[in-house]
Amino acid sequence: EAADWQREAREQFPIIAAHPELAYLDSAATSQKPRAVLEAVQAYLTTSNANAGRGTYPWANRTTELVEGTRQRVKDFLGDPEPQRSDVHFTSGTTEGLRTIARDWLTTYLADGDEILVPFGDHQANLDPWLEARRLLADRGIDIRVRALPYQVESGDYHHRALDRVVGPRTRFVAATHIHHVYGGDMNVHRIRAAVGPDVPIALDAAQSVGHLPVRVDQSTLDVDFVVFSGHKALALPGSGAVWARNSRGPVFRPGGWHGTPNTVGIASLEAAFDWLDTVGTDRIARWTAALTTRLTDGLRRLAAYEILGCQSSLAAGSVVPAAQRRHGIVTFRHHDIRSDDLGFILFSHGFMVRADSLCQAGAAEKDGSVRVSLHVYNTVDEIDRLLTVLASLM
Ligand code: PMP
Repeated sequence: EAADWQREAREQFPIIAAHPELAYLDSAATSQKPRAVLEAVQAYLTTSNANAGRGTYPWANRTTELVEGTRQRVKDFLGDPEPQRSDVHFTSGTTEGLRTIARDWLTTYLADGDEILVPFGDHQANLDPWLEARRLLADRGIDIRVRALPYQVESGDYHHRALDRVVGPRTRFVAATHIHHVYGGDMNVHRIRAAVGPDVPIALDAAQSVGHLPVRVDQSTLDVDFVVFSGHKALALPGSGAVWARNSRGPVFRPGGWHGTPNTVGIASLEAAFDWLDTVGTDRIARWTAALTTRLTDGLRRLAAYEILGCQSSLAAGSVVPAAQRRHGIVTFRHHDIRSDDLGFILFSHGFMVRADSLCQAGAAEKDGSVRVSLHVYNTVDEIDRLLTVLASLM
């Protein structure tokens, strides 16, 4: 059933091609890398490796051009309608990106009595930086209030009614998440924007969306002020993330960009990954993983021993059939009688690599005992069907 383009795309991942007996189902943790990315890294290191921003010779100049060019490439990849007004700040990944906003933006612009909204039941990386910023401000005698926007397991989104309760006249900042890393649901950012109005900055943790589906920052599509992502989840190398900032409310990042050495190799990999993704098409990738996701959730719902977390649970629990499209390539489920680490071990004995532990989720109990399957362009219908066969044999 695989389209030709998908078969060709899959062949471009050397680690996948080298292990036909294994199925990599853990792309939400990190993605595999296409040959184009490996070659770009090799090419950079063998033709122009030098430091950036300080050159009087060709390798150094080419490295500076690589870094500046990739800054533009990130804006372009995100469909930035006003690249002359935005900033791209390279970081080691989403965690550092969120921390940078907390440290540089929040501690500069917030005042006593201001409130910020943070999701609760989300990735720990999208909670700790905001609490840390509150502590830093408190040390200076500035008290801000952190208001929690609770996640709702059933929808894989936040509680819409809770939103109206936590937004107030002192709301100055919102931390949002594009795709939830356990439920796979997408957050209703339009609703947040409507609730807080046009002047409150929204930061979007896009760790599970950039590189997986189209992420476009034109204001009618995604009206946010910051987009934060990890290169390693978007087919590039670890240590190669960025923060995009719309920058319409004054400068965001502290000056001194060239005082440290940027991750030039990671940046080279990011540029190559975005080129590859644009050639294949993130919309096509998203449709492919959505089809696999539906196949997996449909199959799981027929197996009474399993319960799917988030965006509705199993038929056994008596719920209505959910919109499977709302699980963007991420399906987390548990077996009623088998512990998650045992299930992970059993699945690997059949060649399936899944996530089977606490999933880095802040303050949620329902994750216990669950395993997560997460998909990317290289996954196949056959892998899903074989997985379902093994899961069915464990009833
Ligand atoms: N946010 C979300 C939603 C994530 O899924 C992850 C990674 N699992 C992170 C943040 C942290 O990303 P990184 O480890 O690359 O900093």
